[in-house]
Amino acid sequence: MSATILVIADHGHGALSAGTGKTVRCAADFGANAIDILVLAEDGADIAAQAAGLSAVRRVLHIDAPANAHPMAAIAAPQVVAAAQQGGYSHVLGPNTTFGKDLMPRVAALLGVNMVTDLMRVLGPYRFERPIYAGNAVHTVAAPENQVVVASVRGASFDPAGTDGNAKVEALSVDAELPGHTRFVGLEEHGGNRPDLQTAQRVVTGGRGVGSEDNFRVVFEFAERIGAAVGASRAAVDAGYVPNDMQVGQTGKIIAPELYICFGISGAIQHLAGIKDAGTIVAVNNDPDAPIFDIADYGLVGDLFEVIPELTQALG
Ligand SMILES: Cc1cc2nc3c(=O)[nH]c(=O)nc-3n(C[C@H](O)[C@H](O)[C@H](O)COP(=O)(O)OP(=O)(O)OC[C@H]3O[C@@H](n4cnc5c(N)ncnc54)[C@H](O)[C@@H]3O)c2cc1C
Repeated sequence: MSATILVIADHGHGALSAGTGKTVRCAADFGANAIDILVLAEDGADIAAQAAGLSAVRRVLHIDAPANAHPMAAIAAPQVVAAAQQGGYSHVLGPNTTFGKDLMPRVAALLGVNMVTDLMRVLGPYRFERPIYAGNAVHTVAAPENQVVVASVRGASFDPAGTDGNAKVEALSVDAELPGHTRFVGLEEHGGNRPDLQTAQRVVTGGRGVGSEDNFRVVFEFAERIGAAVGASRAAVDAGYVPNDMQVGQTGKIIAPELYICFGISGAIQHLAGIKDAGTIVAVNNDPDAPIFDIADYGLVGDLFEVIPELTQALG
């Protein structure tokens, strides 16, 4: 059974998100007849041109409208559904980024189908693996073959698609009624010029052991020194040291950096769920029995306030 797949592009600040490339890579595992990308934007030509460079993509469709100036799932969903029906796609995939997690369930609901969340491996066009119990078990799911499959793709499980593609770019218009109950008010972003936590190759995190919002400054400075994104445990977020969009773990961001360095984090199972696919894990904790040392590749028993300056000095 073959598949024609529509991948919904996630983008911001004029650039395609890394999650989009990973979703395309996942789509390639379906042995698909065709992979198309849909870009929703006010003026999507630039983003579409970027998407056209992804390997194995046949066409990039862009729906340009003032309503698409800001990514809003409620506004995007009816347009995605109209495009999916117009193109007769068998599968609609989106990244499990914040945007995709908001959008894809709405698309599934409008199509009247169940949704496969967090797809981590493709066993066939209608059979997939996804994590359950905070990533401690893997669940095999079969989707009905007589319905459109709507799925979110776990970015941490796929490499980005190659960039040797040369897809056709086409403007698309769809007949979709947009809801009036949702409108863009404003966007508050944290993080400034720091790398994006979800896609960074190096991530530094702090936990309850950091002790306060003021103390977190040392974590930020160290991260800046090595060009890393900054995250935190839920305990650090709940204590108000940092905003909650920095939380890593089961109920925060699932990340897969090459290098993960954590300071003052004990290694609770819900935190580990977010870093399962990290490459090298380095833990600094003053308790030699902390569970984080069971999974760390490198562990340093010590006070983070002494270790961080020493590490910074060693970097020269
Ligand atoms: C449904 C559910 C979902 C959850 N989701 C998440 C999630 O997404 N992400 C998440 O992180 N947690 C999550 N949690 C919470 C999780 O169970 C833990 O409570 C949390 O991860 C603990 O954070 P922590 O390691 O920072 O704090 P603690 O467990 O209190 O650990 C602090 C560590 O810092 C060390 N320390 C203290 N001072 C220093 C120092 N000066 N130098 C070095 N080390 C020091 C201590 O030895 C200790 O090991 C969830 C819990 C539930 C029930």
